[in-house]
Amino acid sequence: MLRFGSAITVSQFLVFVQLSNFNFRCSLIFILIMFFLTLPEKIHTMSEQVERTKCLIIGSGPAGYTAAIYAARADLKPVVLQGMQPGGQLTITTEVDNFPGYPDGVQGPKMMEDLQKQCERFGTDVRFGLVTGVDFSQRPFTISVDEEKIILAETVIIATGASAKWLGLESEKKFLGSGVSGCATCDGFFYRGQDVAIVGGGDTAAEEATYLAKLCKKVYMIHRRNELRASKAMQHKVLQTRNIEMVWDSTPTEVLGDDSGVIGVLTKNIKTGENRTLEVTGFFIAIGHSPNTGIFKGQIELDDQGYIKTAPGSTRTNIEGIFAAGDVQDHYYRQAVTAAGTGCMAAIEAERFLGS
Ligand SMILES: Cc1cc2nc3c(=O)[nH]c(=O)nc-3n(C[C@H](O)[C@H](O)[C@H](O)COP(=O)(O)OP(=O)(O)OC[C@H]3O[C@@H](n4cnc5c(N)ncnc54)[C@H](O)[C@@H]3O)c2cc1C
Repeated sequence: MLRFGSAITVSQFLVFVQLSNFNFRCSLIFILIMFFLTLPEKIHTMSEQVERTKCLIIGSGPAGYTAAIYAARADLKPVVLQGMQPGGQLTITTEVDNFPGYPDGVQGPKMMEDLQKQCERFGTDVRFGLVTGVDFSQRPFTISVDEEKIILAETVIIATGASAKWLGLESEKKFLGSGVSGCATCDGFFYRGQDVAIVGGGDTAAEEATYLAKLCKKVYMIHRRNELRASKAMQHKVLQTRNIEMVWDSTPTEVLGDDSGVIGVLTKNIKTGENRTLEVTGFFIAIGHSPNTGIFKGQIELDDQGYIKTAPGSTRTNIEGIFAAGDVQDHYYRQAVTAAGTGCMAAIEAERFLGS
């Protein structure tokens, strides 16, 4: 019967009405019968697209996978949605030397593979899937995945990270991980005693330049204006540092390199048009980060730079049951170990929230 009902289309029904010369009342009764006959099938199709979970983790960087390890071991049966970059930012770097537990360092992609295996060992359901929309107005929270599936979640851990901004040069892409880096705190150590360049003019760039100056022989700081955007205190610190040379009014136009990696950076003075080659072995991009929070705008409280606001010393957001971990809520430390640490906190907080 059900199959018969769902197989009839509107046009077939109209032909049927004409042929059988039904009057209006009969037609109405027929429509109602058809509706109720096909209802179970409709509900079944919808429910196939709707799934429920106690704990949904959005993002598969160190924050997301660490949250998953803790949530899975607490029997929350978490689901991790990996997004467009499974494994997160560390998959685009080579050597990670500062994550505890690896005395000889580890390749970024390998470390993320290990973290995935570790959270799967405790039963985490790790899947491809991009969150395309959310409704946090009531619990369970509604999350749309790939614009076709709905997940209803009792708790959500947001670990969508932040993306470093890049210059967009072909040569920058080519030498990423072999001389070009988006993180001085992470990679500066590899350039001890060498000459490096950094591009940027804000507080982060100024912090990173002074950090590099402690390790490297010389630091060229390239900035497109003739004054830094950083705070006065940071400007002062940079300008007073003996081995930082400012390259004012300039932009990098090409990263030079060979099989050994970066050997220089070509810059252009935007006022005079003069080209200059800086002979460096490391090139750091410090022109900012964008938190991956576009889909959460209007749903959760963000700060003026778009990072998710969390309560001090916690991963709680302004919505009960939603937690944020890693770079998506941290524009200060931005390290794998701090992301993992806050991932752990988020899972513990989610578990206690569910138990309360
Ligand atoms: C080149 C480079 C080198 C680095 N080296 C080091 C280092 O040596 N040591 C160190 O400690 N730190 C290093 N860092 C910093 C470190 O990578 C970050 O601090 C860390 O990865 C942040 O982790 P996270 O989990 O918060 O986010 P991320 O690693 O940024 O992961 C974010 C995740 O969210 C997912 N996502 C985003 N949007 C969506 C969506 N809509 N739906 C589903 N998923 C989504 C992404 O696919 C990704 O899986 C480096 C960073 C860079 C760029």
